[in-house]
Amino acid sequence: MAQLLITNAQIWDGDADSTYQGDVTIEGNRIVSVVRPNGDAPQPGGDVIDGSGMTLMPGLVEGHCHPSFTGVNEPPELGRIGPEEHMLLTAQNLRTLLDHGFTSIFEAASAKPLLGVTARNAIENGLIAGPRMRAASPEITTTAGLGDERLRHLHQESFGLVADGPDEMRRVARECVRDGVDNLKINISGDEFVSHARAEITPLEDEELAALVKVARTFGKTIAAHARSPQSVKMAVRHNIDCIYHCDFADEEALDMLESVKETSFVGPAFGLVHNSTREGEVAGITPEVCEQLDLYRKFDACCATYHEIRKRGIRVVIGGDYGFAVTPMGQNARDIEHFVRHFGYSPVEALRCATSVGAELLGMADSLGKVREGYLADLLLVRGDPTQDVSLLQHKENLAMIMKDGVLHKDPRGATADSGLIQAA
Ligand SMILES: [Zn+2]
Repeated sequence: MAQLLITNAQIWDGDADSTYQGDVTIEGNRIVSVVRPNGDAPQPGGDVIDGSGMTLMPGLVEGHCHPSFTGVNEPPELGRIGPEEHMLLTAQNLRTLLDHGFTSIFEAASAKPLLGVTARNAIENGLIAGPRMRAASPEITTTAGLGDERLRHLHQESFGLVADGPDEMRRVARECVRDGVDNLKINISGDEFVSHARAEITPLEDEELAALVKVARTFGKTIAAHARSPQSVKMAVRHNIDCIYHCDFADEEALDMLESVKETSFVGPAFGLVHNSTREGEVAGITPEVCEQLDLYRKFDACCATYHEIRKRGIRVVIGGDYGFAVTPMGQNARDIEHFVRHFGYSPVEALRCATSVGAELLGMADSLGKVREGYLADLLLVRGDPTQDVSLLQHKENLAMIMKDGVLHKDPRGATADSGLIQAA
């Protein structure tokens, strides 16, 4: 089998505190050797890529990704896009993610039941370009919960699936399993922009969550939860939810509970949307007045305080910031890494781990993904400069000289791209 050698690069392996110089050989979709300069130099029969002046690192993993969020201003707009157009826009987002170095994503909810599943299958079958993907259900919610956009007087599609009571919850969850999802997404708390169910309200009830969890466990699916209120975080922990998103308003008891499950559960702040809304919201009509109305400044501060604490307690955190709204354009996703450094107190390398090896753990692929190691899948980036010193380098796709997913070059530093139709999004 043909081999590819990447030589002279500084390697950041997805785990270590620093980089080292080394040579990496890829055969098929696997890394077959990683050797340091004085080791046995491999003798590849194939091609060579010179990585001088660059850092070779694992492909990025988005842990809270909504590829079917297609640049809308308000969530209800997602219900108004026809399914055919929505699928194409989703495919475009997935390509944008790969163009920006995201070789894997954990979908945090699909805007329609089959968008995520269909996209995942299309990527696996080579029909469209995109990251490897764990596909999610839509946001499962209750009447009057986040994602219930229905109106009394008018039919309106939503981005959520509404289920009330354990029986409906079981049915909806099983339907999503039948669709082929990998993850079930459940909204436990509300959110600021839902006037009747703000962030600190917890519309979901214990027996409803228990019913959904039982279905997920029966069919071997992971569960991700939207949980902003302290009660919702505690419910999520009690029910062994795999990935608990947001947790902004976690109180001391909720933090203790999160810490108690840190070997089995993950959290994700999804801070990008909060950040951009409060700092850059004007472009999308989110004025300071709107931020005040929606209490977003308090949410920003609460999120920062909570994630300082979560970092200190060693709880595993994934990046991903609800990119896919007008205020959070797809492709900006790597900004989250800098947010972790700037706002949550992470060192650059700690933040990079969240964006690579920790993400791979969330995908259930800790032994095969997210590290530059012998035997691991060849999801690799060559970055101009040293992202372990400056994580912001990853925000600019011009700095990504090479993007490889599953041993295939999506972007080739030698000039030719394997995929000639690269979308040159900003
Ligand atoms: Zn989200």
